[in-house]
Amino acid sequence: MENVVVMFPSLGIGHLISMVELGELIITRDPSLSITILLTPAHYEATATADYIKTVTETTPSITFHHLPPLDHPPDSSTPFFDLAFQLIKQYRPILKDTLKAISNKSTIKAAILDFMSNDAFEICTSLDIPTYYLFTGSAFGAGIMLYLRTMLENLPGSLKDLELYIEAPGTPSIYSRDMPATLQDRDGDFYKNSISTSYNMGKSCGIIVNTFAGLEPRVMRSLADGEYVPDGPTPPTYYVGPLIRSNKSNSGGDKCLEWLSSQPRKSVVVLIFGSLGKLKRDQLMEMAKGLEKSGQRFLWVVRNPPPEKDGPNSFENKDPALDDLLPEGFLERTKEKGLVVKNWAPQGEILRHGSVGGFVCHCGWNSVLEAMHAGVPLVAWPLYAEQKMNRVHLVEGIKVALRLKMAEDGFVTAEELAERLKELMEEESGRKIRDHVSEMSECAKAAVANGGSSRVALAEFVDSLNSMRV
Ligand code: UDP
Repeated sequence: MENVVVMFPSLGIGHLISMVELGELIITRDPSLSITILLTPAHYEATATADYIKTVTETTPSITFHHLPPLDHPPDSSTPFFDLAFQLIKQYRPILKDTLKAISNKSTIKAAILDFMSNDAFEICTSLDIPTYYLFTGSAFGAGIMLYLRTMLENLPGSLKDLELYIEAPGTPSIYSRDMPATLQDRDGDFYKNSISTSYNMGKSCGIIVNTFAGLEPRVMRSLADGEYVPDGPTPPTYYVGPLIRSNKSNSGGDKCLEWLSSQPRKSVVVLIFGSLGKLKRDQLMEMAKGLEKSGQRFLWVVRNPPPEKDGPNSFENKDPALDDLLPEGFLERTKEKGLVVKNWAPQGEILRHGSVGGFVCHCGWNSVLEAMHAGVPLVAWPLYAEQKMNRVHLVEGIKVALRLKMAEDGFVTAEELAERLKELMEEESGRKIRDHVSEMSECAKAAVANGGSSRVALAEFVDSLNSMRV
């Protein structure tokens, strides 16, 4: 019988890309295995995922996408994105069970690999005796916090939103309560409860595969190795196999950006892209444009329409922005020699790898951070949603690869502040320390994924572990 590894990614392109890349690495390491990735119709709805799935289907026949049928009563489309991700998998449990049984009638399921937001599949998989692992698509820092969550949050006197204190976790700087993810602020919230459940299940899993590499997060990796995050048992084996970043499957719209970058001096351009979901309000877009002009730096900026008043930043709706209406009068004309404004989406990975790029204003999403580290591009941290404020603490104070932007309580950044930080990153001595450190991280990232590098060794250990599991 065929040996299959079944993967269940969460929604969102960042979660999907790491799963696909891991799948490809697994079959390269052991061609006797095959990979089946389970998708729901909702996986197609997030920005750019449909294009990505199509490209992978055409270019990577060794990966099979298995399409789960639509739900009779899918979650309400007004459900906030991160609650939706958990709720969807919960509702898919019966279908998932039948699907796994059907797959195991024809093949041997060697393992299931879950995203942390696919946690509701954990009990189904273990009840079918399938060895179950998690792929943590964030940092080792995030994986440590996730394992430690139940100790860290359940012992607090109330919900984070009602407290003003610093949270201590092994191997990381203290985190101010309000910098913890918005989704964890309320103890009675669904995301909070789902995350505590994930914290327990990850601690009981067969292993945690983490999208990071040796050298980037040494303090957290030591704390994980010392078992400091799991209070009541051994920490499952951790496999640092990253950076899992999108390999060269090209993305439409790239030529214009790359051509423009090629006309710019080496390491001179600042890139400003805010993840797959990030949207800035109208007044912030105006202010940002002023800041870019003031800074005198060259820039490549992806602009999206502001979020609808009600939905916050997570709406998938992506109509082309009317740039003349959103940006200051004459801005595009005045900056046309030095700047390129792109509507909605640009091939970020390829852009960051271009030799003309020297800095990146980043929303602190982990895939973006890894793409920047691999390419050796230093960061200015501009967190927007999810766990990004927490990541900022890690990036600025912990691993020192980013400058901190001063923000008002509501997240607003002034033109002066943006201009100063860009100059600091690109030209000043304090920026140089970060630039040098990021260059070292780039060497580490490349060494990790070279033949015999630490991430390849970890991958081999993971694949070997599959063969030692009782199935
Ligand atoms: N991305 C891109 N072009 C864009 C915006 C995002 O290619 O205009 C890609 C980016 O390179 C990264 C992913 O989308 O691979 C975003 O993942 P990340 O974890 O950084 O942020 P998220 O979208 O999950 O908040």
